[in-house]
Amino acid sequence: MVFGFFGKKKQQEVEEEEEIEPVSFLGPTNGQDINLKAHAKLVDAGLVAAKDLVTDALAERADGLKVEPKGPVYQVTVYVDGIPQSGGKLSKAEGLAVTQVLKLVSGLDPKERKTVQSGGIKAEFETKKYILTVTSSPVPDGERLMMRINDQAIKLETLTELGMGEEMRQKLRDLSSAPGVVLAAGPPGSGTTTTMYGVMRNVDAYIYTVYTMIDSGGRKLHHVAPYDDAVQGEDLEASLTRLARREANIILIEPMKSAAVAKGAFSKADLLTLISEMPAKDVASAVHQLVQLVGDPALVATHLRAIVTQKLFRRLCKDCKLAYRPKVDFLKKLGLDESVKTLYRVPPPPEDPKDDEPCEKCNAVGYRGRVAMFEFLEMTPGMRDIVTAGADPVAIRTQMKKEKQTTLQQDGLRLVAEGVTSLEELQRVFKQA
Ligand SMILES: [Zn+2]
Repeated sequence: MVFGFFGKKKQQEVEEEEEIEPVSFLGPTNGQDINLKAHAKLVDAGLVAAKDLVTDALAERADGLKVEPKGPVYQVTVYVDGIPQSGGKLSKAEGLAVTQVLKLVSGLDPKERKTVQSGGIKAEFETKKYILTVTSSPVPDGERLMMRINDQAIKLETLTELGMGEEMRQKLRDLSSAPGVVLAAGPPGSGTTTTMYGVMRNVDAYIYTVYTMIDSGGRKLHHVAPYDDAVQGEDLEASLTRLARREANIILIEPMKSAAVAKGAFSKADLLTLISEMPAKDVASAVHQLVQLVGDPALVATHLRAIVTQKLFRRLCKDCKLAYRPKVDFLKKLGLDESVKTLYRVPPPPEDPKDDEPCEKCNAVGYRGRVAMFEFLEMTPGMRDIVTAGADPVAIRTQMKKEKQTTLQQDGLRLVAEGVTSLEELQRVFKQA
């Protein structure tokens, strides 16, 4: 009985794992035809291992997978609802083959290892369709591969799907219907682009004439026309002038990363609603950065309508979340309304592990899927004075509090009160920052 020490449960797991049909790769997202025969050696060396890796990740409901060289081996990291966990190690030869094969099937050049490349794979697993977005980037030890797994059945596209409250959504819609600048801001990887597209989907594209000046990367936007007839050498201001002549109302423009873009946008913000995104620590820093880029605080104060930022966190699993009754004192301390009678948390582990019947929906994690909390800065007369005076981030924060504008923390507590997530999860997310 060499394998006796695995116990009954392990045996069962081994048997169950054998039944899993591996993932099918249906082709790269760019529609390119991949000639696997021309890369037979590479395919032989890495395709089975690559499929195993992706299959395991999908079976665990992962939303990300990272393969990277770490000293003499390759480390695999699997992300479930954004939380990293070890996915084991691969030998150097295996890691290299897996990386190159995944690049190949994503439509990337496996031989090019010195520059960052991005592509994607259409995939199917257990009758569900997935888009796997793959980015390879050079690191000191070789090359790192990051895969984002997008379950096509889970929609996190509209602001409602993202978890935004009705009141905030309506306000954003109103603010987007008059000329001015509306921005999504946040640290890289925090979901800013998703929020920006959420803001775009939130505008009334039946009433207004809406254009996009950027490639939506496969995202569907209804009743939004691409602006694709720019004259060579035309700058943003000139493009916006042309669009204004066509009676455009709302335009999605490139991220506000440079003075040229920011100045171009604000020069036409008296005529058009401009929606964009900006990398920034938080909303207050975003306003400050904007003033620096535009170089004219009064112009920013006049035309900036709103900046929204988001933080993603995990949803409690609907099938196993546990209700409890919070004490009134505790609610008060948190700033929650006394009318909240029930909060929810992850169920505690069973006292005897043998009695354990883990929740199948969340693999006994207690969380399943993600949701965002939002912070919303609105340009009010009071805020306008602070921005005109130079947009000091501390003064902006103070003003937001004074005017009771929604902060991340407040919005997070709203979702706790609604039973969408737990206080523990909220604490975890804020500790990270
Ligand atoms: Zn569950």
